[in-house]
Amino acid sequence: MKNIKDFDLQDLEQEFINMGEKKFRAGQVFQWLYVEKVKSFDEMTNLSLELREKLKQNYEICNYKIIKKLESSDGTKKYLFDILDGNAIETVLMQYHHGKTICVSSQVGCKMGCKFCASTGIPFVRSLTAGEIVEQILAVEQDIGEKISNVVYMGIGEPLDNYDNVVKSIRILNNQKGMNIGARHISVSTSGLVPRIYDLAKENIQCTLSISLHATNNEKRSAMMPVNNAYNIEELMKACKDYIKTTNRRISFEYALAKDNNDNLQDAKELVKLLKGMLCHVNLIPINKIENGKFTKSTNENIIKFRDYLNDNGIVATIRRELGSDIDAACRTT
Ligand code: SF4
Repeated sequence: MKNIKDFDLQDLEQEFINMGEKKFRAGQVFQWLYVEKVKSFDEMTNLSLELREKLKQNYEICNYKIIKKLESSDGTKKYLFDILDGNAIETVLMQYHHGKTICVSSQVGCKMGCKFCASTGIPFVRSLTAGEIVEQILAVEQDIGEKISNVVYMGIGEPLDNYDNVVKSIRILNNQKGMNIGARHISVSTSGLVPRIYDLAKENIQCTLSISLHATNNEKRSAMMPVNNAYNIEELMKACKDYIKTTNRRISFEYALAKDNNDNLQDAKELVKLLKGMLCHVNLIPINKIENGKFTKSTNENIIKFRDYLNDNGIVATIRRELGSDIDAACRTT
């Protein structure tokens, strides 16, 4: 059966037309799902009993169950959700001074194999549907009884490897008649799937694009991220420049600092050279040591020196606050 949360409003209207129903009924259902946040068709009391029955026969409403919830001393919460097909996914809620941010997963497992990532050991099973991405936010909101203000696509999976569903989920989250999360409060991260960066630029969505860069030359980047063998730094930078030109949006470059690997002054100099003149921001991430991983965290002294060098040379850089490291929820860096 189709999950009704897999449709953005436009597609839902088409579904209703196809069923011989009035288009505005789709809008009513959309509001029940994303404003009232009901969990069953029976609660949609302004629809006739007949229509509710018809919907029940054709659609299901995906509602996640929490399998496990871990809470960090800094307030970060990590959820493991049962996604109703025998698989489970992870979603993280973080508390920042500007509000609550949810980090959603876009796939069950990941194909990309980034060497510094805790998800690398999780084999790829399948991509999540748009509704399965959106449901992560609804389920967390229900658990905490509060509205979420920011969403980052930085959980398990490569968002742009699940392009259509990710874009559709953004359209659902962003719709003013529903959850109304501003596109500027939504951030999509990628390890660097160049063709999809060109596609995203044309979508006319004002979301933030985060690029997991992590190295300034192809040798180092390929050793950290196999995706660089398919799309190298030069191609990636070209796509980023196109994205900035088309959207007029600033790109956020993620740079995970690993001790004696990419954290010395020479790396900082190369990074300045690479990004000079671009509308961008660099997010420095103290890398998390992962089991069997060969990378370890850079020293605080080196991280600060690296940041200061970038800032002194015209590249805006900040160090990402580590949240949830005691529950293994610290960011995966894409
Ligand atoms: S960092 Fe992101 S893209 Fe890379 S393996 Fe981990 S989840 Fe996949």
